[in-house]
Order: sequence, then structure tokens, then C-alpha cells
Amino acid sequence: MPFRHPRRCALKADPSRQWRLLDLQAIDTRLDQIAHAKANLPQTKPLAELTAELAALDTEIVNARTAADDVARELAKSEQDVQLVRDRVARDQARLDSGQGTAKDLQAIQHELTSLARRQSELEDVEIEVMERGEALAARVAELDARRGELTTRIGALESEREAALNTLDAEARQVGSGRADIVAGIGDDLATLYEKIRASSGGIAAAELKHRRCGGCRLELNNVDLDRIRKAAQDEVVRCEECRRIMIRTAESGL
Ligand SMILES: [Zn+2]
Repeated sequence: MPFRHPRRCALKADPSRQWRLLDLQAIDTRLDQIAHAKANLPQTKPLAELTAELAALDTEIVNARTAADDVARELAKSEQDVQLVRDRVARDQARLDSGQGTAKDLQAIQHELTSLARRQSELEDVEIEVMERGEALAARVAELDARRGELTTRIGALESEREAALNTLDAEARQVGSGRADIVAGIGDDLATLYEKIRASSGGIAAAELKHRRCGGCRLELNNVDLDRIRKAAQDEVVRCEECRRIMIRTAESGL
């Protein structure tokens, strides 16, 4: 046996005022749907994901650039090392070519040139290795930059889409809500206050048509006792569903 609310002193309102509740309910239901749509735009989730992806990518780009800068310094140092040896070789070769100095001196220079050639070869191998690392890092930075470009383009497109969707919904909300104040005024404070109170506690639906003996709010079919009570109620009595406490609006299709 469901709990029965005690019959309270029922609110009186002309049927025409009661019917306007259905207009108000239609407006509010649509406004609720618009608010829900705004809070759940299809672009919101992918935008959050792509923005997180962009932040991670930016970190990767900073790391790759730092590594590339380090290698550029390493390469400059390596080039300097090779150049020092080349300069030394050039000086020695010049002395050798001049033929000045003792045979012993020239022999010493010849020895040094041999070891310098070995040293130069080693340093040039190092230089090539550093250069290759630098090229790989430069390619990595370029690839990350390209990905960043694609990502920001996608984010920009989604933001535009979201903006357009929001504008459309806002425009619809303004249009739907434009007549609301007049309808509320026609309903009157007492009934409008009751409507708002029920709306707040009943998931947004406060008033519904009583149609074919069913409450339009909770969709339950009324029992004979309740139907009899409603049949006997005055036309200006505001009747409420015993199950969901919503205001039931009587029409020609109520089945009474
Ligand atoms: Zn109900």
C-alpha cells in the first residue's frame, strides 16, 4: 500500500491558468534539454583529450629541442677539435715543404704528421657520429613540430565547432525563453511558486497532462479511487498525482 499524502487545502486556479502550466512546462523542458546539450557538447571530450595530448607533446618538443641544442654544442666543440688538428697539420706541412731545418727536425715533423693524421681521422669519426645524432634529433624536432601543427589545427576546428554549437543553443534558448515571463505572469504567483517547488524536487517535470487516466509525469494509471476524487473535484482545483505529487492538468482526453 503506497504512502498517501494527506489531503491538504487544495490550491484553486482557473483551468485556463492551469493549462498555461503545460506551456510553461514545455518551455522549461526544452530549456533543460538545451542546458544539458550545452553541458554535454560532443566536442568537449575530444577537446579535453587533444588539449592533454598537446601539453604532453609540448613537453616532448622542449626535451627534443634541449637535446638538439646540447648536440649542436657538442658538434661545435668537435669541429673545433678537428680544426685544431688540421691547422697543426697545415703548419707542419708548410715547414716540411719549406725544407728548412735539420734532417732530424724534418723526421720529427714527419712523425708528428703521421700521428696527427691518425688523430684527425679519430676526431672526424667523432664529428660524423655527433653530426648524425644532431640530424636525427633535428628530424625528431621537425616531426614533433609537424604533429603539433596538425594537433592545433584539429583543436582549432573543434573549438570553432563547439563555439558554433553553443551559439546555436544560446540563440534557441533565448528564443524559447522569450515568452516565459508572460506565461508565468498569466499563471499567477501562487501556482507558479508551487510549480517551481515541484520542478525542483521532481527532476524538472512539475506539471503534466492527465491523459487516458494516466499521469503524464510518472506515467502511472490512476486507480478508481483517485479517478473518482478527480471527477468530483472542482474545475478550478489544482489536482496532484498521488504517486509523484506532480500537478495533473485535466483536458478533454483525460478519460474521466
Ligand atoms: Zn504521477
